[in-house]
Amino acid sequence: MIEFRQVEKHYGDFHVLKTIDLRVAQGEVVVVVGPSGSGKSTLLRCINRLETITSGSLTVDEVKVNDKGTDINKLRRDIGMVFQHFNLYPHRKVIDNITLAPMKVLGIPKPEAMATAMFYLEKVGIGDKADRYPSQLSGGQQQRVAIARGLAMKPKIMLFDEPTSALDPEMVGEVLDVMKTLAREGMTMLVVTHEMGFAREAADRVVFMDEGRIVEIAPPEEFFAQPREDRARLFLKRVL
Ligand code: ADP
Ligand code: MG
Repeated sequence: MIEFRQVEKHYGDFHVLKTIDLRVAQGEVVVVVGPSGSGKSTLLRCINRLETITSGSLTVDEVKVNDKGTDINKLRRDIGMVFQHFNLYPHRKVIDNITLAPMKVLGIPKPEAMATAMFYLEKVGIGDKADRYPSQLSGGQQQRVAIARGLAMKPKIMLFDEPTSALDPEMVGEVLDVMKTLAREGMTMLVVTHEMGFAREAADRVVFMDEGRIVEIAPPEEFFAQPREDRARLFLKRVL
């Protein structure tokens, strides 16, 4: 579903991604971990072309992300993204936050968009909050709205960039639970997180990045019990 081959990326003189090779299969859950500044967000943002790669090849469902002919809007419709900060529209009700893109971008009629939005709001456990405004919700609830908003576009892939890092500790679990459900249901997911419990439980594979490189890729059982690389061992010692 996602394939990086020999991908390099520079920000000006700064070499941020170094010879990235990574394939994510349909239905796979890959958790990306690593120190701050190692290039995790950049890796994710290249997938929906929020950043462009310098060289190498990157494909999403066989479509070359950086080809001139690629329909970037279509590509982005297939990829949901959830950020650390929820980026909800503050002046729109929860339900309208969710129906906006399906109606505007996909041209779905309002009644159907409303029904779909309600379905996903129920799914993330806040069907009763449809008529509230974002500011009337807790951080965990707002992040679940953001996830429902992503799902309402029926994406092929969901990208999560530290979705729980801005939350108070007591709200982290409710967001991770929603993500675990998605993972079980077969969503293709690439998740940057510091929640090692989530990685252990939900990841098919863990990718460890350091200084712009993928240093290690392993199933969580292996990665946490027996990391092969010194840098991975050091990182785990610090975060666990
Ligand atoms: P991570 O998500 O692992 O913390 P990032 O991908 O955000 O890492 O950043 C990797 C490195 O690239 C950092 O050193 C950061 O300062 C730098 N960087 C990120 N975005 C930009 C940008 N737009 N321009 C220049 N440097 C950037
Ligand atoms: Mg980041």
